Amino acid sequence: PLEVRFTDVVFGYGDSRSPAHHGVTFAAPPGGLTALVGPSGAGKTTVFALLERFYDHNAGTLTVGGRDIRDWPLAELRAALAYVEQDAPVLAGTLRDNLLLAAPAATPGELAHAVTRTRLDDLVARLPEGLDTQVGHRGVTLSGGERQRIALARALLRRPRLLLLDEVTSQLDAVNEERLREVIVELAADTTVLVIAHRLSTVVRADRIVVMEAGRVRARGTHDELVRTD
Ligand code: ADP
Ligand code: ADP
Repeated sequence: PLEVRFTDVVFGYGDSRSPAHHGVTFAAPPGGLTALVGPSGAGKTTVFALLERFYDHNAGTLTVGGRDIRDWPLAELRAALAYVEQDAPVLAGTLRDNLLLAAPAATPGELAHAVTRTRLDDLVARLPEGLDTQVGHRGVTLSGGERQRIALARALLRRPRLLLLDEVTSQLDAVNEERLREVIVELAADTTVLVIAHRLSTVVRADRIVVMEAGRVRARGTHDELVRTD
């Protein structure tokens, strides 16, 4: 697992008047679940965009695994991390196609494992032909939650050392949301997991929470610590 460390990171998107990050400082320890919480526009997604190096920060220091992010060969950096977005695109092919997109060399055992870890078994069971059923095919409509789980299974197959999850439980019903949160806590045992959440109440089990607002870190701590100081 890779440690992530932002130290006084300043970043502005080219066309905007005020920076998206005004000196962001936090660390996500290697292994463990770190949550970025805060209102829309706080700069949470920008943290992920900088980690993927879609953009370079303007000032401050950003290290991944103790190494300055600019010193990572881009392909190596992107191979080490996996990003699952809120509205993850799902191929109009089979579930297996969707999984193999991420890991063409995956064995059947690895596919089954990724599926089980994301509790996709219940999804698969409801489709007529198991893994080879046409997922997303005309006539087969997937719910947002099913798409989110497929996208997570796809990300896990790549065995990321850093997993970036953007509101991935937002479209699930309460039961599946709790199940997926359990899976995420388990995953954090052997990979660094960074999650974006809107509300503190959805990240009660995070090892640490970084509260962002208007491009700055407003507070950090465990859920209990933050609730106490609120
Ligand atoms: P760690 O304790 O593993 O260094 P932290 O997230 O606590 O991880 O700290 C990350 C960085 O933020 C460090 O450089 C630390 O000095 C700084 N830092 C920690 N707590 C605060 C705080 N309350 N205010 C400002 N900077 C802080
Ligand atoms: P959050 O994820 O917390 O909602 P973001 O990181 O998406 O916040 O956005 C932080 C700030 O950067 C906001 O003011 C937003 O409008 C701006 N921003 C985000 N993406 C872009 C972009 N691609 N181009 C210009 N400004 C952007």
